[in-house]
Amino acid sequence: MTPTLALTMSLLVAGAVFGLKWWAYALTGSVALYSDALESIVNIVAAGAALIAVLVSRRPADANHPYGHTKAEYFSAVLEGVLIVLAALAIVREAWPKLIKPEPIAELGPGMLVSLGASGLNVLLGWFLIQSGRKARSPAVVADGKHILTDVLTSVGVLVGIGLAWLSGWWILDPLLAIAVAVNIVWVGWRLVRDSVGGLMDEAVPEHDLATIHHILNQALKGLASDGRVLEVHDLRTRRAGPRTFVEFHLVVPGNTSVEQAHQICDRLENALRASLDGVHTTIHVEPDHKAKHSTFRIG
Ligand code: ZN
Ligand code: ZN
Repeated sequence: MTPTLALTMSLLVAGAVFGLKWWAYALTGSVALYSDALESIVNIVAAGAALIAVLVSRRPADANHPYGHTKAEYFSAVLEGVLIVLAALAIVREAWPKLIKPEPIAELGPGMLVSLGASGLNVLLGWFLIQSGRKARSPAVVADGKHILTDVLTSVGVLVGIGLAWLSGWWILDPLLAIAVAVNIVWVGWRLVRDSVGGLMDEAVPEHDLATIHHILNQALKGLASDGRVLEVHDLRTRRAGPRTFVEFHLVVPGNTSVEQAHQICDRLENALRASLDGVHTTIHVEPDHKAKHSTFRIG
């Protein structure tokens, strides 16, 4: 399953889910169900934006974008975050009057059934998107899937709350729930934006991935270091762009190493990284022994 196909499906299902949730809101007039429906509009727009981003991401590197187009995915996630915040504001605006003057909800049973059906669809879609997004290493697809699953949680919370309101007659629970949904939505949006901005700002790979890179280099350098063909690795830097990881470092070798030999060592290290990490691009800067720093990343 390609990210493109996964996101196209997501777009279609999100449309159906929105239709169902809006229907549930129209039946009942509940602002909590309104907030739930609004989150689905965000899903539709976000799936569309993610689809465009993935299509752009996939394009190979060209003269204008020699590092590829994979960062396009982060833009879609940022856009999704912004939309989420807008949806939260719309919910608060709608819920406010009912908070001051609570109203009973009509047609509760049918409305809840319709909403439950929509959530069922969402569980399937969210689970499916996370699976296929992880396989394809596409943050846009995984983000979409996670967002949809959060949606399900809030939808179920809303239904439980409305049920309680009906049992107790405390109709103020309806706008209170809507505002709780809005707060949750803002939290999800904030996290999405924060992660994507990290990618846009060339944040280093996570601690765990860095340890893997160190380990792979250490293994590959073992023989080379013991007979003095490689003296040191330093200034190791990493950054990510969607499914790609960029690694660069300085490699200190004895000053009398030939270009031929140094290049062979570089190829060996590059191949070792490529064999263990998907989508890794390595750049190595070769230096003679007097450039050694005797610090940072040591060969052990
Ligand atoms: Zn150096
Ligand atoms: Zn080469």
